[in-house]
Amino acid sequence: MSIFRRRRRNTPAGAANPMPCRELVQVVTGYLEGTLPEVDRVRFEEHLAACPHCTAYLDQMRTTLRLAGRLTEDDIPEDTREDLLQVYRAWKSA
Ligand SMILES: [Zn+2]
Repeated sequence: MSIFRRRRRNTPAGAANPMPCRELVQVVTGYLEGTLPEVDRVRFEEHLAACPHCTAYLDQMRTTLRLAGRLTEDDIPEDTREDLLQVYRAWKSA
């Protein structure tokens, strides 16, 4: 059970399942849009803390998306996003 052997005090959730650079690149948009699940967000941030390349990549993505106006963060008000989430939940539970 390597998951226990590697466990240390205050070990963050993602420590047993580190996120590779490749996966980080795939989910970076979700991270920036705030749609990444909590567990992946933790793994994402842990990876960033240890990987200067991905930190630079994230900064670049942030700037690019902002300039391109494709990031919904500033465009969609918090209320609207919450409405969308509720529609999604209702739809999934139907
Ligand atoms: Zn990386």
